[in-house]
Amino acid sequence: MNNLHAECNVTVVKANDTVDDIKTEPTIKIVFHPNGGNGEPPVPLTKLGGVWPDKGKLNKPGYTFAGWDEVQNIQDPSKARYRPGDKLPFPVPLKELMITVYAQWIPDKPPEHVHKFSGSWITYTNPTCTKTGTQKRPCESNCGTYESQTIPATGHKFGSWTDTGVVGTHVRKCLNPGCTAQESSSHTFSAWLTNGSTTHYRSCVVCGRKETANHSMGNWSDFSSTQHRRSCSICNYYEYGSHVYGTKSGNLFYCNFCWRKKSLIEK
Ligand SMILES: [Zn+2]
Ligand SMILES: [Zn+2]
Ligand SMILES: [Zn+2]
Ligand SMILES: [Zn+2]
Ligand SMILES: [Zn+2]
Repeated sequence: MNNLHAECNVTVVKANDTVDDIKTEPTIKIVFHPNGGNGEPPVPLTKLGGVWPDKGKLNKPGYTFAGWDEVQNIQDPSKARYRPGDKLPFPVPLKELMITVYAQWIPDKPPEHVHKFSGSWITYTNPTCTKTGTQKRPCESNCGTYESQTIPATGHKFGSWTDTGVVGTHVRKCLNPGCTAQESSSHTFSAWLTNGSTTHYRSCVVCGRKETANHSMGNWSDFSSTQHRRSCSICNYYEYGSHVYGTKSGNLFYCNFCWRKKSLIEK
């Protein structure tokens, strides 16, 4: 009788059953095993009527009851074969007339962890002039998760412009440690100013570089009855000199420098 299944109203005949026994309902005992649960399991069933019971007074902290199964440690307790409320009869293999079914427990999901970041930031990578840095802070519950944020690049911090010594440019260097950035640009010169009888000068309004050059004097021109004058074509320097009447033509004398003329009578 290896593959007999109990069905409602099916009479199972045992080898030494008497005639009276056969007339009665099938004899079966279903025992409910707590399978790790605490408390009283449902009382064993002896009749194949009604429904599968609930867990009764069983409980297992951190677990939820899912049903009953003949296999004690099934891989997925949520797939327990017999659910509370499912109707008996049922296809229980009756190899033995007493069977045990095991409570199946599904572990409760741990409450979902919500990270909380409120501590102070720890700098992992310092920003440089041109590259961003990184800061991190751990989850308060030390779950190993970090929140990170970017520290903006600092930007260059240029010092003051200095003369390079090279004609045309001044330069300034970044003062931040480790940075080699530098900028150069053309001098911004003031207008030429006179420096005396032979030279004029100008200086860069940014770096202070000073340049000196000789005047570039134009031609003498008549300025007054006694003097002629010439000026530097670059700065506003003027030079004066007295007429020198060294050239005579007819009744007139001419100044050697400005060609002012004078009659003989005047002289
Ligand atoms: Zn966390
Ligand atoms: Zn820099
Ligand atoms: Zn300059
Ligand atoms: Zn000049
Ligand atoms: Zn003259």
